[in-house]
Amino acid sequence: MKIHEYQARDLLGKAGIPVPPATVVDNPEAAGHAFKANGAPLQVVKAQVFAGGRGKAGFVKLVKTADEAVAAAKFMLNNKMVSVQTGPEGIEVNKILIAAAVDIAKEYYVSITLDRNRGTPIVIASAEGGVEIEEVAKKNPDAIIKEPLHPHLGLLPFAGLKVARKIGFTGKQASTVAKLLVNLSKFYMNSDCSMAEINPLVVTKQGEVLAIDAKVQFDDNAVFRHAEIAALKDDSETDILEVRAQKANLNYIKLDGSIACLVNGAGLAMATMDVIKLFGGSPANFLDVGGGVTSDGAKEAFRIILSDPKVKGILVNIFGGIAKCDLIAQALIDAGKEIGFKVPLVVRLEGTNVKEARVLLDNAKTELPTLQTAVDLNDAAKKVVAATN
Ligand code: GDP
Ligand code: MN
Repeated sequence: MKIHEYQARDLLGKAGIPVPPATVVDNPEAAGHAFKANGAPLQVVKAQVFAGGRGKAGFVKLVKTADEAVAAAKFMLNNKMVSVQTGPEGIEVNKILIAAAVDIAKEYYVSITLDRNRGTPIVIASAEGGVEIEEVAKKNPDAIIKEPLHPHLGLLPFAGLKVARKIGFTGKQASTVAKLLVNLSKFYMNSDCSMAEINPLVVTKQGEVLAIDAKVQFDDNAVFRHAEIAALKDDSETDILEVRAQKANLNYIKLDGSIACLVNGAGLAMATMDVIKLFGGSPANFLDVGGGVTSDGAKEAFRIILSDPKVKGILVNIFGGIAKCDLIAQALIDAGKEIGFKVPLVVRLEGTNVKEARVLLDNAKTELPTLQTAVDLNDAAKKVVAATN
């Protein structure tokens, strides 16, 4: 689960990380009032969206007057932001953050995320923070420091100090940064984060250390343990199809290919995507309808995958265990009648009640003219790739 920068700043502030105060507004006039109320001669206006790369996209602006603040807010609220992290379609901005600008001497990068290979969270840090961090990672990976956390104790103070020194801090500033990293690690562990990133962490010309951007994500499977975090959820920023899928208990992730897949079981869904790739296609989504899917759930799944205009074909791959093949076949036929499948549909069913399912599908072929059945997964992938090319 993602949250906005302003929410993350608030949480990090409470966790003992120095974050400058800010105001959040949802209209340009309020941005002007916030500028005047703050009174600082130079302020920063920032779009609040679930994507980074705002600085380069023109959605982080320094302003000197209330009128400039209003204009910047107007621009951000009326234009979709397109950045390296959003894809060409961009995302809408609904909220704006305003804060006194910080006088930056140097920008650093610090984050904690899960290292799946090590099976433990790690600190990632660099003296070359700011908007170019992706470039630094590509061109100069040695400038990025990694330090694993103890899986139960988090980042120990000596390890925090080691990281602070490695990215160039000395003296009192090094212990300030070490403490900040330890606090970040406590926050990460206590809140079940999957990511807690500060980019940039800055040293001001006055020598103060401040977090001026924050990106925090939580492990979806642990959010139920934190009512105060669950309350921060903002569905308006999540892909509308993913929100619908969550409500129907479907695990759906939109991808950018053209072959939609509907599968039961995450492992089988991954394998299905691999086999589509193997035969030269590209998956339009990951979709695991789960073991206990109902007829209504399956219908909603078809509606969701078909609302993606890029979809040129559908592959249904079901191993009927708890969800029986005939239930899926019937849902598919009902959905077909309701929505009307215009794109090729290839179905591979195996498992409980497969015979009954095949009879249902054979009888439905006049109503579903784009339907083909397949004997196994390779056959299904070949057929759907051929039909969409
Ligand atoms: P991002 O591009 O989405 O990561 O947005 P950030 O909040 O990190 O802002 C991008 C860049 O804008 C930062 O790396 C800074 O260089 C600059 N910036 C942000 N806030 C301030 C500020 O208060 N003062 C100054 N001088 N620059 C800022
Ligand atoms: Mn940033």
